[in-house]
Amino acid sequence: MTRSDEDELLKRAADRFGTPCFVYFTQRIEQRISLLRTNFGPDLGLSYAVKANPNPALLEWLSGEVDHLDISSAGELRLAQEAGWDPALLSFTGPGKREAEIREAIRAGVGHLVIESLREARIADRIARQAARVQPVLMRISPESLPKGFGDQMAGKPTPFGIDMEVAHDAISIIQSLTGLSLAGFHIYAGTQCLKADVIAETYRHLLDIFARLCSAHDVKPAMLVMGSGLGVPYHQGETPVDLRFVSRMLNGELSTFRKEPRFTNAKIVLELGRYLVSQAGYFVTRVVSTKTSRGRRIAICDGGMNNHLPASGHFGMVMRRSYRMHSIGVRNGSADETEAVDVVGPLCTSIDRLASGVELPRLEEGDLIAVHNSGAYGLTASPVHFISHPMPEEVMVVADTLLRITRSFASGPARACDSEDAVRLVDGTHPAAANQNA
Ligand SMILES: *Cc1c(COP(=O)(O)O)cnc(C)c1O
Repeated sequence: MTRSDEDELLKRAADRFGTPCFVYFTQRIEQRISLLRTNFGPDLGLSYAVKANPNPALLEWLSGEVDHLDISSAGELRLAQEAGWDPALLSFTGPGKREAEIREAIRAGVGHLVIESLREARIADRIARQAARVQPVLMRISPESLPKGFGDQMAGKPTPFGIDMEVAHDAISIIQSLTGLSLAGFHIYAGTQCLKADVIAETYRHLLDIFARLCSAHDVKPAMLVMGSGLGVPYHQGETPVDLRFVSRMLNGELSTFRKEPRFTNAKIVLELGRYLVSQAGYFVTRVVSTKTSRGRRIAICDGGMNNHLPASGHFGMVMRRSYRMHSIGVRNGSADETEAVDVVGPLCTSIDRLASGVELPRLEEGDLIAVHNSGAYGLTASPVHFISHPMPEEVMVVADTLLRITRSFASGPARACDSEDAVRLVDGTHPAAANQNA
């Protein structure tokens, strides 16, 4: 699909369903998946991290495309189930699992519970034994060190995530002694948003080495080994995509040697990834509500901004604020080559609601559409949508050239992480309006 085909569909989505809206092109996700499959072969499993974009229709579409989902809450478990996913194909990560969530996951038959602490192991063991089950678990390891340039913020530092490598051996022995659990393998999420192919390959080798050492020291014949992929996407001008061919050339020999060891012949090695699959498939489309020139600078004020797309405003783990790539859809007057510097801002009454500073675009007028790139991951789901009480943005999925409105309904409130035993009752003194909203 060419840029102008995509623009035509983005414009149709905006005109038909309204702005602001997120538009996801499934064809672009297919391209990412086939790139991964061709480079790494069918033996490397793919697990989609739901938190990147939990839209139910997207999860349903992905069920034919990726092997597993990684969920991080009971809410995401329910979304996956509603989207038709077999719970046996899910893994459940997250450092703050509530007891009710662990119970719900075990009862639902979640394939792998990812153990982030001995507290979780003990709770899961008790729940599994009560249900006369043995729950397969992966132990999440926090490495002591990682190759430079890859998630080095996460290795060797105090972290809420996983069990420190320094104490892993003792923890493994404890987990192996719990009869309600079976240790099915290990999980390492080493970092995120890496674009350097050599560092990525080196990191994966390092992770395989940790897996090998732990498994042989404790005689584990793993069913699954999960590598948090760290595969990044080029958000900003001047960044280049990961060279996957290079990663695979550096890695495939290593992987086949690894698999030859009898202990690992049945191990499924899985790449767990969010943004790499869906980020580039999505555009955030916002319409210019008003323009002005203030002290010599052109400003376009749009109907959606930080409230819909926090990361594009630079307030989501970005060290240095840089604008996401974006373009305007259609050129009203003159030619696309005639551009001017413009500040693109959202509708909120705060100066941090800014999508771009001084980006070069063809002259914008009221009613024009702007498409912000790389908006398929951590867009809507990572944003303060209630701030200043604007309506929820629309979500649209493009399958072939058909537009499907897939706006997520929050009418019944976000999924609550509690079952009957933990249900919270509203007590006297609750304002009736709040009680209605929670009903
Ligand atoms: C967030 C997360 C991912 C996905 O990260 P991306 O950078 O989007 O690929 C994968 N695994 C875990 C455990 C995560 O927390």
